[in-house]
Amino acid sequence: MAASPKRTKQRPTEQTPHVRVAVVGSGFGGLGAGVRLRRAGITDFVILERADSVGGTWRDNSYPGCACDVPSHLYSFSFAPNPDWPRSFSGQPDIRAYLERVTDTFGLRPHLRFNAEVTELRWEQEQTRWRITTAAGTWTADAVVSASGPLADPQIPELPGLAEFPGKVFHSSRWDHDYDLTGKRVAVVGTGASAAQIIPQIQPKVGKLTVFQRTPAWVLPRRDREISAAEKWLHAKLPPTGALRRAALFALREVQVDAFVRRPGTLKLVEQLAVHNIHKGVADPELRARLTPDYRIGCKRILLSNTYYPALAAANAEVVSAGLAELRGSTLVAADGSEHEVDAIVFGTGFHVTDMPIAHRVFGIDGVSLAEEWKDGMEALRGSTVRGFPNLFFVIGPNTGLGNSSMILMIESQLNYLIDALTTLSALGGAALQPTARAQRQWNLELQHKMSRTVWSTGGCRSWYQDEGGKNTVLWPASTSSFRRATRKLDLAEYEVIRQTAPVAEEALV
Ligand SMILES: Cc1cc2nc3c(=O)[nH]c(=O)nc-3n(C[C@H](O)[C@H](O)[C@H](O)COP(=O)(O)OP(=O)(O)OC[C@H]3O[C@@H](n4cnc5c(N)ncnc54)[C@H](O)[C@@H]3O)c2cc1C
Repeated sequence: MAASPKRTKQRPTEQTPHVRVAVVGSGFGGLGAGVRLRRAGITDFVILERADSVGGTWRDNSYPGCACDVPSHLYSFSFAPNPDWPRSFSGQPDIRAYLERVTDTFGLRPHLRFNAEVTELRWEQEQTRWRITTAAGTWTADAVVSASGPLADPQIPELPGLAEFPGKVFHSSRWDHDYDLTGKRVAVVGTGASAAQIIPQIQPKVGKLTVFQRTPAWVLPRRDREISAAEKWLHAKLPPTGALRRAALFALREVQVDAFVRRPGTLKLVEQLAVHNIHKGVADPELRARLTPDYRIGCKRILLSNTYYPALAAANAEVVSAGLAELRGSTLVAADGSEHEVDAIVFGTGFHVTDMPIAHRVFGIDGVSLAEEWKDGMEALRGSTVRGFPNLFFVIGPNTGLGNSSMILMIESQLNYLIDALTTLSALGGAALQPTARAQRQWNLELQHKMSRTVWSTGGCRSWYQDEGGKNTVLWPASTSSFRRATRKLDLAEYEVIRQTAPVAEEALV
């Protein structure tokens, strides 16, 4: 930590190393935090990662067909442009390799601690610091950055008979590459973004494909193509051309956001495109009807694919228009009572999102757990900080998700906020910051007011953006530019500064 004359922290002991910042997670969020910390001159930090390599989403999701659905030139860091993206929507191996390169280029390796799953984050009031217990040891830190991922912990429904299923079972984000699906009877449960990428890839090789669809998704054509050698050359030799391309992609999405957040009615026009897409891919009117959603497009995440419908319409595929209800041996029983015999099940059932898993491991002032604090729904100030949990900064915190643009834009905005908070705190000579109750309440009241007119609230669907109580605690209900403005600087009027209260340790003054 850049030494502040008023700081009185205990010195690190042999047993418990102390750092200025501990970052949890090494996906785009954690790695981005590392880069920005170093650029701010803060080198006293660790990045704690439960796995044995970096990449987060792009390490864990290796299923066939896994790729981004926001163009690569926008779905990458602004400070690390990549002229070599092979496709407009690059695949998982390329995005993972990009994150490995970012790790090397920005000197993050020495900060990384792998196999270090954080099992507890506990605020020590007297010492005004966090105690971090991990599978690889304990650290204390002045501040913690939680970048543990919005879509990192797979969700598999608890279904009667699942434990006794004799065949193979895995989640889309934990693909078993040793299991050969060729010729097998395979069930895919769910029809979200991952399932829509998996289905066209596995349909030609499996014997029989049974897709359990609770609610159909709207699917638009995927305008994916190879990036030509000339374009790559141009972006490498003349970097402003890459920046221009990014700016154009950004601007297009900023214009579109208005339809999602303020004028959902205008999305009807887009719906026509999606209906045309169904007609193009599916000849059977009965199947078309079952694949046509009854809610406004955009209410659930819009999927992009040119191959999804043809795969579902193939002779070896069957769409069951009901959720999977129970299993009897190798027979899968749908909610409509139909029975389906399978050898393997792929769960494309999403992640723990509104019930952020790390919240159960965080204990703030007076030992209150974050999960308890959030029992009526997640909320934070500016998606970043929570009252009662000083010096804890989220990257992709509550209500920072997007329905139509690159999450990297939101991550970078939150990193601006983080760095400004840390430097402000240093300049003030304070030990920690926490939002005032008023500021946090006000922020969320306004946010939920805006949310009420978005397509996510009015579109007539139930989505993973909503928690059990139906509150959307996941998405940001405005443009990414407005979030950037809202997180450019920390407003001290929204915060309480906590001063060090513990007695001064002699050695800390040395
Ligand atoms: C298949 C898929 C496709 C996607 N495509 C897009 C897209 O096209 N565009 C887009 O904008 N977004 C997309 N997303 C969303 C994506 O998750 C974010 O864009 C982004 O990658 C999130 O980065 P992150 O660092 O916040 O989280 P993650 O990438 O999930 O990284 C979190 C890291 O934290 C680690 N971790 C979690 N808990 C602990 C713990 N207790 N202790 C230690 N380590 C821990 C995890 O192992 C992981 O490495 C996609 C998500 C998925 C699943």
